[in-house]
Amino acid sequence: MQPSMFNVRVPLEGRDGVFLMNTLTDAQIIVDREVSDLLDRLGTDDRGLTGPECEAVSALAGHGFVVESREADWRSVEAFFGGFRESRDQLRVTVLTTLQCNFACDYCIQGDHDDYNRHAAKMSLESAAKVAEWTERRLDAVAPRSFALTFFGGEPLLNLPVLYYLAERLWRSCQSRGTAMTISVITNGLLLTPEVVDRLLPCGLSGIKITLDGDRETHNRMRPLRGGQGTFDRIVNNIRQVAGRCRISIGGNFDESSVDSYPALLDFLREQEFADKLVRVAFKPIIREPAPARPKGFIPLTAVGSGGGAPNGACMTTAGSGSTACDSCGLMDEKMSLLREETKKRGFATVDGVHMGPCEIHKTHAHTIGPDGSLYACPGFAGLPTESTGHVDGREDTGRTGAAARFARIAAWKDCQDCAFIPVCAGGCSAAAHTELHDMNKPNCHKPSFEAGVVALAHEAARSLTEAVV
Ligand code: SF4
Ligand code: SF4
Repeated sequence: MQPSMFNVRVPLEGRDGVFLMNTLTDAQIIVDREVSDLLDRLGTDDRGLTGPECEAVSALAGHGFVVESREADWRSVEAFFGGFRESRDQLRVTVLTTLQCNFACDYCIQGDHDDYNRHAAKMSLESAAKVAEWTERRLDAVAPRSFALTFFGGEPLLNLPVLYYLAERLWRSCQSRGTAMTISVITNGLLLTPEVVDRLLPCGLSGIKITLDGDRETHNRMRPLRGGQGTFDRIVNNIRQVAGRCRISIGGNFDESSVDSYPALLDFLREQEFADKLVRVAFKPIIREPAPARPKGFIPLTAVGSGGGAPNGACMTTAGSGSTACDSCGLMDEKMSLLREETKKRGFATVDGVHMGPCEIHKTHAHTIGPDGSLYACPGFAGLPTESTGHVDGREDTGRTGAAARFARIAAWKDCQDCAFIPVCAGGCSAAAHTELHDMNKPNCHKPSFEAGVVALAHEAARSLTEAVV
């Protein structure tokens, strides 16, 4: 018997206790220091265990804190990833209705820079019909309990005819098959209106994620229109109009120049009458490519971070991880932890920094579809022709077949040795690794952020325990 490699421990200051968490079983407990010490003795000096110690070990084993061997841990995590990959519970499809965008964000290759929008792809209704047919075939083949449709871009609301067509047709497809359906929209919020929300609500609209990149001044600098006009006031006004009609979450992408404005944004949001209607507020660092050139149409990534969307969330669609190539990576991890705390302090639900993944790139039945009907393993690779894994019209070529096989093998976590965070990180964001490290199979490590998340969980657990005792 030995302690699981997926145990993490946080000694609790001011009390004789240790917070113990196992990232594979998600068990979380507070134990006395002797119990924590007992774990250290296992495998080295466990022959003379007393009766009570044997009972404690057995209880710990029941929660996954004690395992037979390191090999048993590896077998369990392999089985976990295998089950996650092949799960048929849910079919997830993210549709990029267009790569065009009405913003000109400095950090984004998309958007209204130069002649970008003139060439950026937009899905036609004809392609949308093929997307719907392909999705219906997947619904029949996978027979999932639920179908999650996400609209993303570019700016997805720039192509409302396609968005409405897919939402309404696929809603009917799901209804006729007895499959539950949800719709999420990830938008910059500029074109969000009550009419859009009301049209999507009968089709299972479950959430809209809107990006605010800092306080008013900072957001207007980071996310302007092409002419430089600010967008903050219009977006906030749009949120005001639709809050209460549907679930709204706020995301934000920060860098060194903008991060310090986020507390002011949080204060501003707290003062709004819609504050209690926001279901989640979560921010993540901007991932930048170290090399200057990047092919047109490649979607820039923001580090993974929040749960809910992509399995517990990692990426622009939900949450994310980080970047080893980034000079300021350590700083960004630290800032992300601080922002989580600032967000919680103001009473907003946010990500906990630990339950981040694995993300949808590790799922067989999760697909991203570009405006031309090309299939991708996840939104982070959409628009990169060399990374397309197929096409909704069924066409086959060696490039797509090869890419599909490459993505099916992705397992950067296998290089993470004995890291305790493998089950909740899976080696980080593969798209960020591709962008920054030029190798999607390399771990994209943000361990300090996970460690800070566990410390926060420990403090919360200790606080709840104290409150329960009082
Ligand atoms: S690999 Fe793809 S799905 Fe996963 S976190 Fe990165 S962008 Fe998101
Ligand atoms: S990327 Fe880092 S935090 Fe994630 S599993 Fe690998 S070593 Fe651990």
